[in-house]
Amino acid sequence: MITSYREITPELARRIRLVMTDVDGTLTDASDSISSVVSETVRRLEDSGVMVGLVSGRTLPGLESLASDLGISGPIIAENGGVAKLKVNGNLIAMGYSRKPALEALEKLRMMFPDAIKEREDNRYRMVDVVLWSHGVDVNELRRHLDDAELVDSGYILHLVQKGVSKGRTLNMLLRHIADGQLSPADVVVFGDSLTDLSLFEMFPHSVLIINPRHASEHMERLHNVCRYVSELSLGAGFTQVASHIMDVRINPEEKK
Ligand SMILES: [Mg+2]
Repeated sequence: MITSYREITPELARRIRLVMTDVDGTLTDASDSISSVVSETVRRLEDSGVMVGLVSGRTLPGLESLASDLGISGPIIAENGGVAKLKVNGNLIAMGYSRKPALEALEKLRMMFPDAIKEREDNRYRMVDVVLWSHGVDVNELRRHLDDAELVDSGYILHLVQKGVSKGRTLNMLLRHIADGQLSPADVVVFGDSLTDLSLFEMFPHSVLIINPRHASEHMERLHNVCRYVSELSLGAGFTQVASHIMDVRINPEEKK
């Protein structure tokens, strides 16, 4: 059951070795940018010995540039789990995923709903997923016509991706390459705000839902059912709130009891 982030105990906070965070709606603010306060929070996490990594639906080049700006040392997972690196400017990790199912699904949806489906420009930088908007056709109607691809709604854009590819699965596969394979899912805290983060919340026991007022209530309800902790503030301010709590109780466990 979901509880307040204040229930994160000093014992848990001291166990955390890696924070994996979504970007849009989790680190960003209402104007879709990352504030200096959030950047500072990320830096403080790294300074306190917690690796920070990004796990997002954004493209790999976009995420690597952001990761460099933030100065983080953890993994980078782009395209909602489709592509991954252990660190900025590192080698791509071979995940064995294909873009074919997403491209075939895009073609099919375009034929069926020519006026509704609009591709986004950054598809040319993508290796596994495909991003699109649907104007006037419901997402569930689109899903009825998919075979080997899934359609995921981030609340910002729709992603078509090969069935089975998810943020949670990819992060799980990466763990064996980090810290000599000594990290377990219980040493990780995952942060997210939308249904694209559901797999992270299901596969990692220490999960934090960041409130995003943009999402529909049934969307938030599904997330509430699987996530462990929730912020009080929304968007990037929520991330800072929860991360600051984790750092506070790591250092001063007695004061926060
Ligand atoms: Mg998000």
